[in-house]
Amino acid sequence: MAEALRIGIIGAGLGGTAAAGLLQRAEFDVTLYEQAPSFSRLGAGIQFGPNVMKIMRRLGLEQKIEEVSCHPDYWFSRNWDDGAYLSRIPLNAQHDRYAATYITIHRGDVHEIMIGAVDPARIRFGKKLVDLEETAAGVVLSFEDGSTDTVDIVVGADGLNSRVREKLLGVEDPLFTGWVGHRAIIPASKLSGLDVEPCVKWWSEDRHMMAYFLDKDRSEFYFVTGEPAESWPRGVAWVPSTRDEMQASFKGYHPLVQAYIEAADTITKWPLFTRHPLPLWHRGRVVLLGDACHPMKPHMAQGAAMAIEDAAMLTRCLSELGTADLGGTFEAYRTHRIERASRVQQVSNANTWLRADEDPFWVYGYDIYGVDLRG
Ligand code: FAD
Repeated sequence: MAEALRIGIIGAGLGGTAAAGLLQRAEFDVTLYEQAPSFSRLGAGIQFGPNVMKIMRRLGLEQKIEEVSCHPDYWFSRNWDDGAYLSRIPLNAQHDRYAATYITIHRGDVHEIMIGAVDPARIRFGKKLVDLEETAAGVVLSFEDGSTDTVDIVVGADGLNSRVREKLLGVEDPLFTGWVGHRAIIPASKLSGLDVEPCVKWWSEDRHMMAYFLDKDRSEFYFVTGEPAESWPRGVAWVPSTRDEMQASFKGYHPLVQAYIEAADTITKWPLFTRHPLPLWHRGRVVLLGDACHPMKPHMAQGAAMAIEDAAMLTRCLSELGTADLGGTFEAYRTHRIERASRVQQVSNANTWLRADEDPFWVYGYDIYGVDLRG
């Protein structure tokens, strides 16, 4: 063991799972607690930039993920009605410059691969954290099923409605952004004969649609939108939607967008939330990462990326700076993350990313393992 300390990670989303795998590889004693009764394959797509794939490399997962994912050469931005090209951004067309692959994939597939990098004996499903209390013996975690566990360090990776964040900062609802997103997965066979680009975002002034393939064989295509909405019912995670609703919302959009919608059998609609920047990321033996700490609108496809980068930096700080001065180590983690995570949060919320030609190197070229921790 690198340290005899027991680390409890709350939440086995993409951030918590990455943290568990990385900390276990650094020989920490880690348990991952997840409220869901078992792993579930969420029906959505996700993009991982080269900044994330460099971390997957450390987890020993880079090749495995590359083998099943789609690797678009370019990101295209196109005008909503006439399809005019607004930007053509090299992704894997500049693979060597970014020093890793840009992938698009089914979220469930990549999550499952990442879960496989965590010792199965140390994942506890069905453990919904309801309370935590710092005591002389450590932090006592209390779960909804009545059980408790005691750990030395708690990592709150429990997402937007983080209970760990609530324990640090009090109860506060996340902010509805006034935006919703429609999502659907389409069999690519339903689009055959059409000139479907592997990674494309269609833009009009007040809404957009992002679309890409989910697998190496390009057999599944996915779209996710961003559209204004006046309100969202409190406590509702998502609602079913329809082609009619989407056709009304995307009226006048290019025939390719109409074809994607026409091909979608199951469409869902999701609210987009955010939070004001948090005044603290850690207190005592408790530290936050990912959406628990800095949720954002998803328009830059970097929310999970920031959670995974947090996990990598937290692991580096605990391994390289040690745990004797835990407050100092957590503060170093925050210092090395806040500027980048806040910049990404700001650009993502503004929904301007790659709309016009720009160099995305500051995001994709970033290598968290190249950061000088003492600098
Ligand atoms: P989550 O993924 O939310 O995981 C939190 C986990 O904690 C969950 O498993 C939850 O069940 C568990 N949990 C919660 N409360 C408790 C509790 N009390 N006890 C125990 N467990 C608990 N990001 C990208 O990088 N690329 C993309 O392409 C992309 N596309 C997106 C598209 C949409 C429409 C949306 C909404 C988001 C997108 N994101 C994308 C953002 C990304 O999904 C999030 O930023 C990311 O999932 C955050 O990861 P996380 O691990 O912090 O939190």
